[in-house]
Amino acid sequence: MSKKILIIGSGIAGISSSLKLKSYGLESTIIDKGNFIGGRIGTRDIKIEDKSNYFFHGAQFFTAKSDNFQKVIQNGINKKYIKKYGNFSPPRYRGFKSMRDFLINLSQNLKVTQNVKVTHLKPFNEKIIVLNDKSSIWKTYDGVISTIPAPQNLDLITKFPTLKTTLKTSSYDACIALMFSFDKEPKNVPHFFDFYKKQTILSWMAAGSNLRFWTAHAQGAFSNKSLNKDKVLIKNEIFSEIEKIIYPFEKNVKISFHSLHIWKYAKVKRVCTGPQIDPKFPIAVAGDFMEGPNVESAFISGEKAADLIFKRLY
Ligand SMILES: Cc1cc2nc3c(=O)[nH]c(=O)nc-3n(C[C@H](O)[C@H](O)[C@H](O)COP(=O)(O)OP(=O)(O)OC[C@H]3O[C@@H](n4cnc5c(N)ncnc54)[C@H](O)[C@@H]3O)c2cc1C
Repeated sequence: MSKKILIIGSGIAGISSSLKLKSYGLESTIIDKGNFIGGRIGTRDIKIEDKSNYFFHGAQFFTAKSDNFQKVIQNGINKKYIKKYGNFSPPRYRGFKSMRDFLINLSQNLKVTQNVKVTHLKPFNEKIIVLNDKSSIWKTYDGVISTIPAPQNLDLITKFPTLKTTLKTSSYDACIALMFSFDKEPKNVPHFFDFYKKQTILSWMAAGSNLRFWTAHAQGAFSNKSLNKDKVLIKNEIFSEIEKIIYPFEKNVKISFHSLHIWKYAKVKRVCTGPQIDPKFPIAVAGDFMEGPNVESAFISGEKAADLIFKRLY
């Protein structure tokens, strides 16, 4: 009988774990608490006259420097669900038509269930038993890979002291994302602004699926200290900064606020050190917190966790 493997989280790390296991002939089930696949590769859909327009309020693009991820990206380009983004070196890519399309297509042959939160994990007879918020029955798995951000993972992995020690070594910056739109396509505004090392509360601002729908990201220091502030104050502070930046380029447009999204654990500041798999039980952790603060690193980490679980089980 084939082994039963659970992957917690349908972000890129969870999907890459499941794909890697599949390449070994092992089926796995992915469970995620969110409404949509993709985790921090977030997309917000806004319909105008039945046509979808997208804000990308999480990752804005991804790089593909490693061989395995390059293959994934090339396949996505061939199948037209990934497109090159801008003219950067090294090249950057985006999901097409939205960032979410990247994850939907990549996970086409995987078993993914959204809206189920894993609440408890315990070792039991060399296996792992798991409880979720939709059932009162513990389920038994031969292997588990948990890809949720390290601080939340810590709350779940309480019975696995080695992994707890690993997870405690990471740290994150928050990121407040503000989504806004133009009443018409601006003609003279660049498609993105990179505020790296600039004197502003913003770190990045860019158009989404078209030039009318934009997301601005606040810097880590501003986001960390604003987490518990009144949302209207945060919105006003970021929005007035956006207006200051946009209007010198183009006066004849109206900018409207759409929404705020607060990512508490957004960007990994310090990567974990320590083992990725429990020394005794078949449970591993994966995600950007193990490898680096970006989509590609999370992908690599997921593959590594799958390798470790495969070696443990076979
Ligand atoms: C605002 C922002 C901008 C960024 N910009 C870029 C960029 O431009 N380029 C880049 O490469 N990277 C960027 N990043 C980083 C990148 O998005 C992440 O490194 C990557 O997406 C992390 O993937 P992951 O699979 O490790 O985690 P996640 O995507 O966070 O996936 C974890 C999943 O676990 C689920 N989950 C949590 N708890 C539970 C539970 N108890 N039960 C079930 N499911 C659970 C969550 O719903 C989530 O879907 C950005 C991140 C943010 C937030």
